[in-house]
Amino acid sequence: MNNIDIKYIKGVGEKRAERFRTLGLTDVNTLLQFYPRGYEDWSCPVDIYDAVCEQNCCIKAKVISPVEEHRVRSNMILYKTLVSDNTGVLEVVFYNSKYTAQRLVVGEKYLFFGKISGIGSHRQISSPKIAACESAVIRPIYRTVAGLPSSVIEKTVAQVIDRVDFEDFLPSHIIEDNRLCDINFAVKNIHFPKDVESVEVSRRRLAFDELFLVTAAMKFKRFHNLKKQGIQLKKDYIGEFVKRLPFTLTAQQQKAIGECTQDMTSGRLMNRLLQGDVGSGKTVVGAALLYNAVRNGYQGALMVPTEILAEQHYENLSKFFVGTGINLALLTGSVTKSNKNKIKQALLDGQVDILIGTHALIEDDVVFKNLAIVITDEQHRFGVAQRTSLAKKQDNVHMLVMSATPIPRTMSLIIYGDLDISTINTLPKGRQPIETYCVTNNYRQRVYSYIKKHLDAGRQAYIVCPLVEKTESDLISAEEHAQNLSSGEFKDYCVGLIHGKMKSTQKDRVMREFLNGKIQLLISTTVIEVGIDVKNAVIMVIENAERFGLSQLHQLRGRIGRGEYKSTCILITDTKNSETKKRLDVICGTTDGFKIADEDLKLRGPGDFCGGRQHGLPEFKVADLVNDLELFRLAAKAADRVISSDSQLKKPENNLLRRKIIAFLRQTAKYGQN
Ligand code: ADP
Ligand code: MG
Repeated sequence: MNNIDIKYIKGVGEKRAERFRTLGLTDVNTLLQFYPRGYEDWSCPVDIYDAVCEQNCCIKAKVISPVEEHRVRSNMILYKTLVSDNTGVLEVVFYNSKYTAQRLVVGEKYLFFGKISGIGSHRQISSPKIAACESAVIRPIYRTVAGLPSSVIEKTVAQVIDRVDFEDFLPSHIIEDNRLCDINFAVKNIHFPKDVESVEVSRRRLAFDELFLVTAAMKFKRFHNLKKQGIQLKKDYIGEFVKRLPFTLTAQQQKAIGECTQDMTSGRLMNRLLQGDVGSGKTVVGAALLYNAVRNGYQGALMVPTEILAEQHYENLSKFFVGTGINLALLTGSVTKSNKNKIKQALLDGQVDILIGTHALIEDDVVFKNLAIVITDEQHRFGVAQRTSLAKKQDNVHMLVMSATPIPRTMSLIIYGDLDISTINTLPKGRQPIETYCVTNNYRQRVYSYIKKHLDAGRQAYIVCPLVEKTESDLISAEEHAQNLSSGEFKDYCVGLIHGKMKSTQKDRVMREFLNGKIQLLISTTVIEVGIDVKNAVIMVIENAERFGLSQLHQLRGRIGRGEYKSTCILITDTKNSETKKRLDVICGTTDGFKIADEDLKLRGPGDFCGGRQHGLPEFKVADLVNDLELFRLAAKAADRVISSDSQLKKPENNLLRRKIIAFLRQTAKYGQN
C-alpha cells in the first residue's frame, strides 16, 4: 500500500501527480510523511461576541439576511450578508465570489472561518471559508505549490489515511518507557487530529522518532568504526617533538595528544573530533600527531578550508619541523599545474611527508604512498561529504577533525555522534581574556582615538564590515570604509583592505603585510574569521554588529587576544531591536564559546547555525532542536540503550531499526567510508 504511486490515488491522476512530485511526493509513503505545517481549528467555534479582532476565528452562525450585491468598481463586486448566533451579529463580505455567496441559504447555519475586523456593530468577517456545521474538525494546512492548494492535498491524504499501516521501528520497551503513542495513531492524527491534544501527542511521537533515528544511527556508526583496523604506529616520538617546542603544552593539549596517540598505536582506527575554542592551540596538537606519523615512516595530510589558512599552517608547521628533515608540501587551488604534478609525484614516491592544502587535496588523482593520518581543520567549514572522501583515500587512515566552533551538545551528538571527542577548553598560559564592548555610532570618534592610541604604541587593529562593496543599504562596506579611513581619519597610518572577492594572491599579499606589521589597520570582511594568527593585533572593531551571528562574532574576535597583549573587541551597532541587543549582551558578557553556542541556538535556531546544513545536520520534519531539548535527551538516552545492548542490531526486534538506520546513513553519505 505505502508504495503505491501517487497518481493512482483517487482524484489525482497524471497531471496532478506532476504537481505533487514538485513537493517531493511520489507515493503514498511520502505523501503521508508530508506533515501539515499548521492547522485550522474548526472544532470549537467561538461566539461572535467573543471573536477577537484581527485574528482567525471560526464562527458558527445562522444567515439572517439575503445576500446583497454592491458594485464598487467596474471590476469589483461585493457580496454582503448578515449572520448571527445568540451573542451577536456579524457582516460577512465576499469579493467577486458570486458562487460562494449564492451557496448561503437564509435561515441555515454554517461554519465561517476567517479574520474578524471592525468594531461594535460594524464587525465583519471578510472572504471567510465556509463549511457545513457537521465538519467541525481540525483541518490540516499543507505547504503548497502553484496548482496544488492545501485543500487538494488534504483530500488526497484523506483518501489513503485509513488504509495505511506503518510498521513500528522502535522496540516496544522504548515506546512504553517514553510514553509514546502508536505510530499509526501519530500519522493519522498529525494529518487529521481528533482534538488539539492528539496533535501534541502525535507530534511528540514523530519528533521522537526523528531524534532517535539520527542519534542511534551515529552511535551505530561509531560502534561500527570502533571495530575497524587502522595503521598501527609502533613507536611514540611525541616526547621528541614536545622538546622542540618554544612553549610548554597545556595539560589539555597533552591530554588530547595522548588520546590521539593512544588511538593510533592501538591498531584500531582513529575517528576523533578535537574541539577547542579559538586560540586554544589545536594546531600544535595536529603537528605532534603528524610528526609522530612521519617518524614512524608514514605520511600525513592536513586539510583546511581556505588558501590563506593553508599557507599559515604550512609556515607554522615548517617552523615546528625545522631541522627535522621532514618535507612539507602545500597544495592549493592556485598552485600551477606543473607544480601540482611535481607535488603529486613526490607524494607518490614518498618524498613529501606532509601535505597541507585546501580541498584540492581530495581530488582523485592525489595519491599517497603510505598515508597514516588525515587532519581536517576548521571542520565546520567543510561539508561532511568532504570529510568522508578524504578518509576514503585509504580505508585504514586515521582521522582527526578539528573544530573551533563550539556547538551545543545536542548538535554535536547529531553531527559528531560517530566520533570520539577530545576537548581543549583552556587557553595557553599568559593569554589575557578579550574584553568586548557594544557601543553606538555616537562613540565612533572615541573608538578611532582608541585605535590610534594602540597603533601609535606599535600594535595593530582590525575593522570588520558586513559587506564587501557598497550597496543601497546603510550597511558599511569594506571597500568604502577602507577608502574613507585611509584618506581621512587614518591617513597617517598604513591601512589595508582584504575581502573574499579578492584574488587569493592578492589576499595573501595583504595578509602577509599585516602579519609583518606593514599594514597597521586592516579593514576586512569575515574572511579573517578562519585561523590567521597575528599576535600583535589587539583591537577588533565590528561594524553593523547586529548583522552577525553570535558564534560568528565569537569566532571573529578569536583573531585578537592571541599574544601577550590585552585585547579589546568593540561592536558598533545602532540597533533598536531588543532581541538583537540581548544577543550582543551575551557576547559582551562571556568568552565561553559553548555558552555562546547554546545561546545562538536558542536565539536563532539550528538553521542559521554557522550555515546549519553545512554542518551536515539532517533536516527534521517535526523535531525542533531548540524546543524539543527534553525530548532529545530522552531519544538520545533510548538510542544509547538500544545500541549498547545490541551494537550491531542483530536482535530480531531491532531488525527494522537496522534497516532504517542503514538507509539513513546512506542517505546522509556518512556511511560512505566503508
Ligand atoms: P586554534 O586552536 O585557534 O587553532 P592555534 O593552534 O592557532 O589555535 O594557537 C594559537 C596560538 O597559540 C598560536 O600562536 C600557538 O603557537 C600558540 N600556542 C599554542 N599552544 C601554546 C602553549 N601551550 N603555550 C603558548 N602558546 C601556545
Ligand atoms: Mg586553528
